[in-house]
Amino acid sequence: MNSSISERIVSIRSSLPTSVKLIAVSKQVPAQAIRSAYSAGIRDFAESRIQEAASKQAELQDLPDITWHFIGHLQSNKAKKAIEQFPWIHSVDNLKLAQRLDQLAQQLGVSPQVCLQVKILPDPNKSGWSVPELLADLPTLDQYKNLQIQGLMTIPPSGLNDPEILNVFNLNRELAKKIQEQNWSHIKMQHLSMGMSGDYELAVQAGATMVRLGTILFGDRS
Ligand SMILES: *Cc1c(COP(=O)(O)O)cnc(C)c1O
Repeated sequence: MNSSISERIVSIRSSLPTSVKLIAVSKQVPAQAIRSAYSAGIRDFAESRIQEAASKQAELQDLPDITWHFIGHLQSNKAKKAIEQFPWIHSVDNLKLAQRLDQLAQQLGVSPQVCLQVKILPDPNKSGWSVPELLADLPTLDQYKNLQIQGLMTIPPSGLNDPEILNVFNLNRELAKKIQEQNWSHIKMQHLSMGMSGDYELAVQAGATMVRLGTILFGDRS
C-alpha cells in the first residue's frame, strides 16, 4: 500500500456512516504508527495481547484520550490485567470468563464495557458461545452487575462468500434484537462489534456499530 495511514483513515472514515465507530486494530503495529492514526483522528485502538499492549500503552501515555479495546482470546490468568488496561473487552467468550471478570471488576471498583462473542455458525477455530449456549447463559450473565454488557461480537468462519458473510452479520443483528426484546434488567444490546478489513462493508450493511480494522489501515502484519 502506498498511501499513508492518515490517507487511508480519511478515506475509510468518509465511507462509513457517522454512527459506526472505527476501531483501529493495532496488534503487531508499532507505537509510532498508532501515533499517526491518532493524528488522523482515531481515538479507539484494539489489541489482542495483554503483554504487547502494555508496552505500547506505556509508550503512549501522553495520549490520554485513547480508548483501548481488547479483542483477543482472554485467559483467566490475564483477566485482571485486561480489566486494568482495557475499558472495553469485545471478546468475552464464555460464562466462566464473564464470571471472573465480574468478580475482578467488583474488587477493582470498575465496570468494564463488554461484548459477548458469539459463533453464529459452528467454527472449531474460534472461541465464543454458540447461539443456544448463549441464550441459555443469559439469566446468569444478567446477574453480573459489574459488567456493562453492551452487545455482541462475531467473526464469520473463514471461507464464506459475500452473501454468506452478510447472512452471518444479519443473523447476529437479529440475535441481538431478540435478546434485547427479552428485557433483561442489566444486559444491553446496543452494539454490534463486527467487520474486519475484508468484510467491514458487509458488516456495516448489516448494522455494525463498531468495525475493527487492522490491515486496511496499517498494512500487512507479516
Ligand atoms: C486481527 C483482528 C482484527 C483486524 O483484522 P484485519 O483483517 O487486519 O482488519 C479484527 N478483529 C479481531 C478479533 C482480530 O483478531
